[in-house]
Amino acid sequence: MQAVNLLDFDLDGLAAYCEQLGEKRFRATQLFRWIHQKGASDFDQMSDLAKSLRSKLQGAAVIQGLSLISEHVSSDGTIKWLFDVGGGNAVESVYIPEDDRATLCVSSQAGCAVGCRFCSTGHQGFSRNLSTGEIIAQLWFAEHTLRKRFQTSERVISNVVMMGMGEPLQNYNALVPALRTMLDDHGYGLSRRRVTVSTSGVVPMIERLQHDCPVALAVSLHAPNDPLRDMLVPINRKYPIAELLEACSRYLQAAPRDFITFEYCMLDGVNDSDAHARELIALVKGRIPCKFNLIPFNPFPESGLHRSPLARVQAFARILADAGIVTTVRKTRGDDIDAACGQLAGEVQDRTNAQTRMRREPVVVPVSAIQRSARGGRPA
Ligand code: SAH
Ligand code: SF4
Repeated sequence: MQAVNLLDFDLDGLAAYCEQLGEKRFRATQLFRWIHQKGASDFDQMSDLAKSLRSKLQGAAVIQGLSLISEHVSSDGTIKWLFDVGGGNAVESVYIPEDDRATLCVSSQAGCAVGCRFCSTGHQGFSRNLSTGEIIAQLWFAEHTLRKRFQTSERVISNVVMMGMGEPLQNYNALVPALRTMLDDHGYGLSRRRVTVSTSGVVPMIERLQHDCPVALAVSLHAPNDPLRDMLVPINRKYPIAELLEACSRYLQAAPRDFITFEYCMLDGVNDSDAHARELIALVKGRIPCKFNLIPFNPFPESGLHRSPLARVQAFARILADAGIVTTVRKTRGDDIDAACGQLAGEVQDRTNAQTRMRREPVVVPVSAIQRSARGGRPA
């Protein structure tokens, strides 16, 4: 029988599993804390866990992280990890340190089926959903690897954004237990406001998330009208803007923040005119409390698209801000290691591309130098 991976469980799931083994819930809590708070991957490390439980777990269960393929460190401190998820697929996570926080950008799928025009993950196509364990393993690995590296027992990662590869709301069943583990006081203890799900607009799942696990919501809008959005974000043909905005309004009733963040990728000559900005204002003003985050497009060769000039991005931002809409322009981080939004594309599937990238990357640390075996995927 295949061993159960305990990273696949949120605390309720682990309690149910422990119950099957004839163990009480508080044992599951202890186990959960060992795994997520201490980064343990070996039952023998769990000194205060009853020996009888430890021996039941040996053989039946594992704590199995992801296999690390590579680590790239940017000159601005951003770190990109590439993980092997089998079958020729690789996914990426990005650590982004800032003055007052440290954010981990987490992947939810190998590839993505939505196929947005401006996204390299979308261009890659869809391979498969990640499991709960594969989603949470990214945080588990990053948190405990960095604690060791920074020689601290304090929490390192303060924020998680589901903005890596994939559409998280198209992998809903695996996503929710992973989110719950991030929020759980016995897990990572992150506040709901500091965990953000970013979606291209899977309307029915926005509604479910509102009930099951309301965290901060970011919506990738990218266009002020349906014809343009149909072209840029194909899921718009199924869930057009009006339906999406209604779902956003309803979401706010349960959301931990009192606004929705709209992401808007600035594409030269496509969606970045003054008229587009005014159309956006007409769309959202008085209808939905929101903030805009303008993302300078990160080009990749196959897209055929270009980044809006900075002056255009600033003029666009000014029009929104003058209408009273809080607007920020996202800083591009990890540019030199292709870790910026929309540049994440499991390099294993595209080796030619990977090689072109490698030449531009300033620091490439081989796996062997990263204090752990590539196969076990274990931080502790
Ligand atoms: N699938 C989800 C989350 C992952 S994408 C979503 O679409 O929201 C995370 C963010 O990066 C989204 O806002 C997405 O639109 C943006 N993005 C994708 N490709 C990009 C690119 N090439 N340049 C800038 N932003 C991009
Ligand atoms: Fe998928 Fe998001 Fe990329 Fe669109 S932007 S293809 S939804 S990952």
